[in-house]
Amino acid sequence: MPGLTHWQSPQFHAFYPAACSFPAIVGELLSAGFGCIGLSWTTNPAYTELEVLTMNWLGKLIGLPEEFLNCSRGSGGGVIQGSASEVIFIVLLAAKEKKVKELTAQGSSSTEAEIRGKLIAYSSDQSNSSVEKAGLLGSMPVRLLPTNKDGVLRGNVLAKAINEDKEKGLIPCYVVATLGTTSTCAFDSLDELGPICQKEGVWLHVDAAYAGAVFVCPEYRYLNKGVEYADSFNFNPHKWMLVNFDCSAMWVKNSKYLVEAFNVERIYLKDQHKGMAPEYRHWQISLGRRFRALKLWFVLRSYGVEGIQKYVRHQISLAKYFEELVSKDDRYEICSSSMALVCFRLKGDDSLSEKLLENIEKRKKIFCIAGHHYQRFCIRFAICSELTHKQDVAFAWNEFKEVTDEMLGVKSHDIKSI
Ligand SMILES: *Cc1c(COP(=O)(O)O)cnc(C)c1O
Repeated sequence: MPGLTHWQSPQFHAFYPAACSFPAIVGELLSAGFGCIGLSWTTNPAYTELEVLTMNWLGKLIGLPEEFLNCSRGSGGGVIQGSASEVIFIVLLAAKEKKVKELTAQGSSSTEAEIRGKLIAYSSDQSNSSVEKAGLLGSMPVRLLPTNKDGVLRGNVLAKAINEDKEKGLIPCYVVATLGTTSTCAFDSLDELGPICQKEGVWLHVDAAYAGAVFVCPEYRYLNKGVEYADSFNFNPHKWMLVNFDCSAMWVKNSKYLVEAFNVERIYLKDQHKGMAPEYRHWQISLGRRFRALKLWFVLRSYGVEGIQKYVRHQISLAKYFEELVSKDDRYEICSSSMALVCFRLKGDDSLSEKLLENIEKRKKIFCIAGHHYQRFCIRFAICSELTHKQDVAFAWNEFKEVTDEMLGVKSHDIKSI
């Protein structure tokens, strides 16, 4: 089909997966067919209730602490938003209101406007562009802190930045830690960042937009260590968990902070069921809501826990296979390999790998994009489509090999024999 970039092609290895599955499509069709909108529980009880239910299932599925779930005793809960960008922005606003209220209640001599003007947020230089954008939209400067050579934000770096800013009279307010960075799928040291945020009274948000899906598999949950310190968490089933765009799952430990920040009542929204179920309009930007829980429900019920685990593990194994193929060829080096993303480059100057990617693009057989690893240019190879199989990975590798042979004029085995 002309004019489309085929994200579901088995040869699509750019960006990240754009989830798609038949159960999700059916859920989407039904939801469109119902033609309803949710404004409150009353306007469509099933919209709210199925979302509460599926978000509890999903939270348990990825091993989130109980406090984040709607079914816990406290005020925790999950909600479906349109995108990770929306989540990161909404949470920034909630963190801001919380901090302003806290300081005002403590009898701060500054006015609310003065406090707002001093708030500051932190994330890493590897965090997604949406973090910086949230800062712009929410008028809170975001300091992008340096990561180590593996793209990981460590605790000592955050602690130092917070101390520096406090000395300048600024007020640390919001930290976004990334589990699975966009460039190389690195995981920030959550267990180091968490205690610092707790000590400093800073809201900690965990952005696991892409990689959150791996926590469905218990063997990867060690990467989520420290999540108990987080105030909020998001991951996108619409990336790597088979639910069509848009479906960004967000959980908070205390929904009170969202409701306090966004609660605007009107006579036409009043009803007698207050408090029986979450009024999700106070948890988001828009008033109207779609029935996004339905496609999530279809995917969870059709694939089941084991089906989703199998899918994620299979995609990771395909990436490992690609890594193996690349490592056997002396002309290349692997920069990083994490989950279903391998970053690699031709040895030598950046211009070689840049040229390689340019030529690959010209041939239009596979699609990859560039990344950065330790300030060096690399090519990102992501397993994206559910339709990608081992032979497609071999096909992609062959593309790289052919183009490299053309560029360098030598075959890999010639190099090896030198
Ligand atoms: C993709 C991604 C985002 C942005 O996701 P949207 O849902 O498109 O806003 C944010 N953070 C990370 C780590 C991502 O991988």
